[in-house]
Amino acid sequence: MHLSFRSLSAWLLASTAVASATPSSFNVADFKADDIIKRDVAVIGGGSSGTYSAISLKDKGKSVIVIEKKGRLGGHANTYLDPATGTPVDMGIIVFHNITVVKDFHKRFDIPMNRADEFLASESFYDFRTGKAVTQTFTPSGEEMAAAFAAYLEQYSKYPGLSNGTILPSPVPEELYMPFGKFVEKYAIQAAIPAMYYFNPGVGDILSNPVIEQFRYWSSHMAGGVVAGFLGPVSRNVSDLFARAEAELSSSSSVLLSSEVVRAHRSEGKSGIKLVVRTPSGPKLILAKKLLIAFPPKHDFLAPFDLSATEKTLFSKYISAGYYVGILKNSGLPNDESISNAAQDNTEFTFPHLPAAYSFAPSQIPGLQLVTYATGQTTKSLPLSDEAVKADIINTIKRLQKQNPDKFTPTEPEFVVFHSHAPYNLQVRAKDIKNGFYDKLYKLQGQRNTHWTGAAWKGEDSSLLWKYSEEIVVPQVIAGL
Ligand SMILES: Cc1cc2nc3c(=O)[nH]c(=O)nc-3n(C[C@H](O)[C@H](O)[C@H](O)COP(=O)(O)OP(=O)(O)OC[C@H]3O[C@@H](n4cnc5c(N)ncnc54)[C@H](O)[C@@H]3O)c2cc1C
Repeated sequence: MHLSFRSLSAWLLASTAVASATPSSFNVADFKADDIIKRDVAVIGGGSSGTYSAISLKDKGKSVIVIEKKGRLGGHANTYLDPATGTPVDMGIIVFHNITVVKDFHKRFDIPMNRADEFLASESFYDFRTGKAVTQTFTPSGEEMAAAFAAYLEQYSKYPGLSNGTILPSPVPEELYMPFGKFVEKYAIQAAIPAMYYFNPGVGDILSNPVIEQFRYWSSHMAGGVVAGFLGPVSRNVSDLFARAEAELSSSSSVLLSSEVVRAHRSEGKSGIKLVVRTPSGPKLILAKKLLIAFPPKHDFLAPFDLSATEKTLFSKYISAGYYVGILKNSGLPNDESISNAAQDNTEFTFPHLPAAYSFAPSQIPGLQLVTYATGQTTKSLPLSDEAVKADIINTIKRLQKQNPDKFTPTEPEFVVFHSHAPYNLQVRAKDIKNGFYDKLYKLQGQRNTHWTGAAWKGEDSSLLWKYSEEIVVPQVIAGL
């Protein structure tokens, strides 16, 4: 949903007025009766994991309230609808694994699925810093790639604790925190690396990331999907699912949109949790037995949640990437080919230097180009402003046009739509993994009546986050009610 400028300013004015009037105590006498909401579970964050978990809890007879800071559910699901034809273009989540939880969740909302791997456009490489064409020096064959993925999976499968979470052996074997580049050399899996890198922007410097951070995304399901194909909604509109979930949750007063927790009290005992929430219709007091946090647990985002010393220490270890997507018109770029960033001088793989645009690809709508842009891993939750990213993208297109006048038409490109997905791909450094970060993280589950789900726990993969939420988190929440 896109707010017009007028409605945005009205909302900001309203929320400022509400902010100054938001009670700072949990005293029920400070709230009107209608503003006190009692539920079994309060879910914070209505992205992929939060929406899934809320519906699953509801289906199991539990009362929920989802508190989502944006004006819609869906998180990284972004779909652009062409105003002329209604054609959808998914820019965020696009594909899912062919697993039961995915098929059941879509079926529940009456959304048919089919095979979705229309990554058709042929690809050429340019150095986006100069606009010059780059010759790929390392171009493995399909057979070499398949063999490298098989060798990768042989190592991955030694860690069964990764099948539904990030449960590592103790002590953590060095193999799991060594730089991924060393692991690549050790097992001679170079042929899988270009596919791994370009498939997942926002991974940062793939070769220096610790192995476990690569394993968390490149699961056996993900590698299997590359070979056997993925699923998507027949409509090619991923946001449909979240819109239907939102409508259902709204109809049972189970969601507060454009709302944020301003204060939380999380007890250990039976008294549950209390939240003061700022909403567009005034402050609410939420009294719930359990809290389920389903947004990126960056230290700065968790400030209102009354963190314990252990939580503060753990969450301040996270680094993450900036990941941005958009649709451009009048780009002068081709409609039948994607243009990807590369650097002739950077290792045998010629990966690009970041931050930078990753690639431009034709969308389903002729004349509209999809762009992805990424930074490396950083401690900043929001590493670049949207304006800086957009300006860098436009300048990149201009460089490509200037350097290749025979290939790209000189134009004045314009953004049709733009979304920031920062912070993306939360991960920790090798020394933290060695010191048992993930063991300590998982020990937080259930403490102070608080449970956690989302990409920081399992990896950036909606299908597997639904599986993790369904099979591990939701049962734990229910067991404690
Ligand atoms: C461009 C892009 C493409 C992708 N493509 C795919 C794909 O094809 N298939 C796939 O499986 N995965 C894909 N992913 C990864 C997938 O989107 C994520 O792994 C998944 O969305 C993570 O879910 P989550 O619930 O952890 O977080 P999110 O979906 O990000 O949800 C977090 C939610 O919490 C909200 N929030 C944040 N802070 C607060 C707060 N303080 N209070 C209340 N609400 C808050 C946010 O607004 C958001 O709605 C893609 C990601 C991106 C960025």
